[in-house]
Amino acid sequence: MSQFIDAKMQRGALDHNGTVSVLRIGSLHTSTLGLVILNLLLACVMSVGCAPASAGGAIAAPSVQAPPALVVLVSVDQFLPRFLDRWRADFTGGLAALLKDGAVFTQAYHDHAITETAPGHASLLSGRFPYSTGIAANLAGVNTSDAPLLGAADQGASPFRFQGTTLADWMTAAHPDTRVLSVSRKDRGAILPVGRGQHSVFWYAMSNGSFTTSRYYADTLPTWVSAFNAEGNVMKKYAGTFWQLSRPDSLYTEPDSVAGESFGQGFLFPHFLPPDDLSATNIIIGYPFMDKLSLDFALRGVNAMQLGQRGSTDLLSVSLSATDAIGHRWGPESREMHDNVLRLDAALGVFLDSLSTLVGRERIALVFTSDHGVAPSPDFRSVVSDNSSGKRVVLDNFDAAIRSSAVTAARRKFPLETLNFDGPTLTVDRAAVKGRDGDVRAIAQAFAREASKVAGVMRVDVLEDLARADTVRDHIARRWLHMFRPGGDVIAVVTLTPYSIFGTGNVATHGSPHDYDAHAPLIFWGAAFKTMQSDAFVRVVDIGPTFAELLAVPVTEPVDGVVLQQALRQVP
Ligand SMILES: [Zn+2]
Repeated sequence: MSQFIDAKMQRGALDHNGTVSVLRIGSLHTSTLGLVILNLLLACVMSVGCAPASAGGAIAAPSVQAPPALVVLVSVDQFLPRFLDRWRADFTGGLAALLKDGAVFTQAYHDHAITETAPGHASLLSGRFPYSTGIAANLAGVNTSDAPLLGAADQGASPFRFQGTTLADWMTAAHPDTRVLSVSRKDRGAILPVGRGQHSVFWYAMSNGSFTTSRYYADTLPTWVSAFNAEGNVMKKYAGTFWQLSRPDSLYTEPDSVAGESFGQGFLFPHFLPPDDLSATNIIIGYPFMDKLSLDFALRGVNAMQLGQRGSTDLLSVSLSATDAIGHRWGPESREMHDNVLRLDAALGVFLDSLSTLVGRERIALVFTSDHGVAPSPDFRSVVSDNSSGKRVVLDNFDAAIRSSAVTAARRKFPLETLNFDGPTLTVDRAAVKGRDGDVRAIAQAFAREASKVAGVMRVDVLEDLARADTVRDHIARRWLHMFRPGGDVIAVVTLTPYSIFGTGNVATHGSPHDYDAHAPLIFWGAAFKTMQSDAFVRVVDIGPTFAELLAVPVTEPVDGVVLQQALRQVP
């Protein structure tokens, strides 16, 4: 039995397998009794005798007793919780509504180490960490030539690597008439939240500026998707226009003339979107316009598919990607990010109003979150945190470490191709080195010793040693164990010093187990949720189980997340 103690065990969850504890909640919801309790709960929510809605009364008391008609996930790629605090006074749209009426968790985390888009999105509705979803990095995400896109030349994509189930599967298993729509600019942002199911899953193809899907899901596009694309929105609405500040200049306290932003090219407002077809359909992904386009597309789908309007509960997932592109190019503290967040607030306001009109505000159960955070650029001094020790670490340094005499001696008996260092992980082809665990361990240890000497490296862990770490106090160890199982192909993992990043390709980036990359906004919104704020440590994997509890659908496999009961309205 490992000494592995996970944070959730402190909260009374079960130790499932000796390495990562798991809370089984599915069986709690299989009974008719569960439905009765839910109905009672909802009857309470709907009645005048219950706890009042927000002080402002913004969520009207519903007149019918019914479960949510539409569950909505809004995930904003690279959105930082501190954006909510920093610009709250200026919000007037969707973010203002969420903060005013929602159940706000200020200390929610992606409790895994490789804080990238693919692993983050795979955890949003699955209730499980990457070790369990099988999605550990963007580069091992969704792309495959086996699932070409319909009518577009971009890379093919499918959930072929995704393991297990998500809320979409739990809902459709309990109620086969459930409809699921998932939309994103990114293929991984659309595909991974809803797992392996062949649902209505659409994303943006840069090659022609259309929304499409892959042959994993369909052989033809639905009429409403073709009709949306035929409108030529990118070219007609956005190409040839400028991204200008949406509010008076005096509102923006950030300097615009930070030459390091955008690598010194185009760091000043306004930003032009060329009229030319090909460059406009590419460049738009880095402007706030892309999120507006994605939300418009999602609403069109809600309307066409009659989501939430058919007497059952449907699921809508929307992943917005412009914030990630803007953060990578201009940095999270830029004037560009400030204006992007204000525009996002406005776009989400229109989106929530439109959804409320289509579905009924009291029938929506929504969560707002992100897939990961970001570090301020190591190239300029942060005004938020002391990032002065941040370095850019290039992979060549690790190649040197892996070629050092100590490592070479350890790996002499191995064919070179059995080992690979990529980003933060050293992997071995386990099948090729079967029965030689001692040698594998020696190589991992030698690599860890050498790589630890590289400037910008905080620690290098041999994966099998992490199983003995104190994972309550050592959150770095815990986050790595939530990525990979000891005994698998990954044998050693590298954690850089705070604010250091791999590579030179972005002005700012993410991907580490540090809190600034793992911290995510988490706000539940709708009549089923309390208006409250909690500063307790919670995790993004809690979203799936919480929605399952709300909907009284069985969770069909062990999950890592727990039900955030404190967010749910209770029977008094
Ligand atoms: Zn990113």
